[in-house]
Amino acid sequence: MKVLVCISQTPDTTTKIVFKADGSGVDYTNVKFIVNPYDEHALAKAMELKEQQGAEITVINVGKADAEQSLRKCFAVGADLGIRVDAEPVSGTQVAKLIADVAKERSYDLIFTGRESIDYNGGMVGELLGGLLGIPSVGYCGKLELNGNAATCTRFIDGGEETVKVELPLVVSAVKELGEPRIPNMRGIMQARTKPIEVIADSENSLPAEVRYESPKGKAGCVYIDAAEAGKLIDILHNERKLF
Ligand SMILES: Cc1cc2nc3c(=O)[nH]c(=O)nc-3n(C[C@H](O)[C@H](O)[C@H](O)COP(=O)(O)OP(=O)(O)OC[C@H]3O[C@@H](n4cnc5c(N)ncnc54)[C@H](O)[C@@H]3O)c2cc1C
Repeated sequence: MKVLVCISQTPDTTTKIVFKADGSGVDYTNVKFIVNPYDEHALAKAMELKEQQGAEITVINVGKADAEQSLRKCFAVGADLGIRVDAEPVSGTQVAKLIADVAKERSYDLIFTGRESIDYNGGMVGELLGGLLGIPSVGYCGKLELNGNAATCTRFIDGGEETVKVELPLVVSAVKELGEPRIPNMRGIMQARTKPIEVIADSENSLPAEVRYESPKGKAGCVYIDAAEAGKLIDILHNERKLF
């Protein structure tokens, strides 16, 4: 069984995000990067399949060379092969197209993504991949059982669970219940350093996104109104703030 796990590199959750002075992008100086947490849950499930069924795990990232550190972290917990599509990721659609191009050529039985990246929170790459490849995609998957080519997926949805039965090949986007992230061992860390990462050219000729960023405006100061002047409060809400 061939399994592909999509790995997004995101700023560490404790990072304070600041924008460049001209608002043209995020200032990544001094930002510590991590593997997107939902992707770690996906990788943990892939590792389980490797242990139980001998699955071969490939990890893939769309990004520049600095993202290879995240692929190496995945090697350290047991991923077998690594692919980096050499493009600046600028949208979920572009990322999905680039991964789909690779998947079409190499045909995987199972493709995992996280339910969303914790930086841009698009929550779209998994479903787009399913559409582009013409195969089923199951989002928000917290449990996956395989029986030959048949997959039983449990989706954790608001107020309940939904069980979906589908055939492989399949795209699954992981929530945290799918697998407990693995801690790398010393042997894995040593091997991770030397495993090759295949670099593939950007088949979409992606262009940089033209965006402007600005920090949210500070909150306006509080206005205190004496309880005896409730009419004044109504006047402000109605005439000044136009709330009703
Ligand atoms: C306007 C704009 C400008 C951007 N500029 C930059 C930039 O300059 N540099 C930069 O690094 N990012 C940039 N990004 C973020 C980049 O576009 C995201 O990686 C991409 O859009 C996917 O994020 P998402 O939130 O839509 O993914 P989601 O759909 O939320 O991700 C779901 C899952 O898809 C997979 N996935 C997501 N991204 C990748 C990836 N890159 N490689 C492999 N798997 C992935 C992961 O498994 C992830 O858990 C930009 C985004 C926007 C909207």
